[in-house]
Amino acid sequence: MTNKPFLTMKTICYTRRIMPLNFFSRSDKSVVHRDLHLFNSETRKKEVFEPLKNPRVTMYTCGPTVYDYATIGNLRSYLFADILKRTLIKNGYDVRHTINLTDFGHLTDDGDAGEDKIMKGLRRKDLPITLEAMRQLSDEYIEAFKADIEELRILPPTTWSRASDYVRKQISLIRTLDDKGYTYETTDGVYFDISKFPTYGRLGSIDVEKLKSGARIEINSEKRHPADFAVWKKSPLGWDSRYGRGFPGWHIECSAMAIATLGKEIDIHTGGIDNMPTHHNAEIAQSEAATGKKFARYWLHGEHLQIDNQKISKSLGNGIGLRQLADRGFSGDDYRYWLLMSHYRSPANFSFEALKAAKQALFRLKRHMYEEYKRKVAVPNEEYMESFMTRLADDLDTPGAIAVLWEMVKDDSLDNKTKAGTLVAMDEILQIGLSAPQSEGARMLGVVSANDLPEDIQAIVDEREAARIARNWTESDRLREALHVKGYTIEDSANGPRISKV
Ligand code: AMP
Ligand code: ZN
Repeated sequence: MTNKPFLTMKTICYTRRIMPLNFFSRSDKSVVHRDLHLFNSETRKKEVFEPLKNPRVTMYTCGPTVYDYATIGNLRSYLFADILKRTLIKNGYDVRHTINLTDFGHLTDDGDAGEDKIMKGLRRKDLPITLEAMRQLSDEYIEAFKADIEELRILPPTTWSRASDYVRKQISLIRTLDDKGYTYETTDGVYFDISKFPTYGRLGSIDVEKLKSGARIEINSEKRHPADFAVWKKSPLGWDSRYGRGFPGWHIECSAMAIATLGKEIDIHTGGIDNMPTHHNAEIAQSEAATGKKFARYWLHGEHLQIDNQKISKSLGNGIGLRQLADRGFSGDDYRYWLLMSHYRSPANFSFEALKAAKQALFRLKRHMYEEYKRKVAVPNEEYMESFMTRLADDLDTPGAIAVLWEMVKDDSLDNKTKAGTLVAMDEILQIGLSAPQSEGARMLGVVSANDLPEDIQAIVDEREAARIARNWTESDRLREALHVKGYTIEDSANGPRISKV
């Protein structure tokens, strides 16, 4: 009897996985806290993490400006925050996490110049510039962003804080700063006076004096110092406040929403490296000036992703997102796995070649899990789990953790069930599709019933199978080539021929 062929589809659909909200954010009280060493951008060294109110951890992540689709670069920032969060949870912490959604106020320049990015989005689409239209445009990109997050198996935060829902909080924070004498008003807005906050520029040790002498001719001559930044911009469009109509500056949004959702002192603040000099130094100054408390205890910044060694930008035509990866047959898991092979503090250079190699490696892993081990699990191996967790506790060393994973898979002294159990446990943090139910695993491998093969392809497959059984290798090779021309590859396995789409 000939074995029934089965089909492997290389095209992975752009699917949405339904994840229960915060299904994973409660700590397991039986878990022992391991010392986590995290690189704090403020002190520029690795420090042992200690939350303010153990086991509660508060964490704030600077979110996207929702005027366009997120690029695969932007998504790297949220992936590193996800690894951090999952590592904290696995070590027994309760994590309360906020990600903001910037739906106004972020100018094309990170400082006070340029155009509001959301308005730029409206112009791009030839839409009217109104608050309502800004909200509608952002709705669309917020939805797309959340779909990307889900596709990458990133845990949703406890709170998504949308800037336009917190305008009153932002205005009240500006008033506090004003009342305490930290701001001054100009014809176009209200500015934070950095001379009143002596430690301004702590992150990245910004030399404020140098900034002043090296500054371009200041566009706004009313500013007292080039590094002073707007907390309020006057504009005919916006909200009403004691300063007239306008909108809060971009930086004030994060201070106000972090305080509103997590409290005056937070444990961890994350963002991409570009956020550090301007945005995060401004957040520190505003928050600490207003509350008199230390704003964030640990600042973590993810390095940037480049494409073909160039900055990611729409104008270079390389601002690709997950959709473009899906169009070329790459799933969220493939991208996640590829990203995790670089440390979050190292720059990463994206290429489709590199992604393809990652996809193949992940495919091999999934085959181990769903074909060889059939996802039958036993208790995870303690030693491998310990060295895996130790790698992650060392400033989220994901490349090191993945190396431990492969060492475990290749270890002949372990049985398949132990390997499967260990992979499932590792996947609680890695989340690369190794812990799905067997049926979903089979789907991920693209295995579908032979009935789904087009008739002409099925006929060639049957003919080739007959030639192979008759040991007619020349004919078998000719038919393999015929399949290839029609866009299929064939591979012989213990279960019969496996057909894949080229
Ligand atoms: P934005 O939507 O511009 O506010 O950016 C959202 C997040 O993406 C911020 O945390 C940025 O620091 C981060 N980001 C922007 N470009 C990149 C990149 N090429 N690689 C990694 N992160 C980035
Ligand atoms: Zn922010």
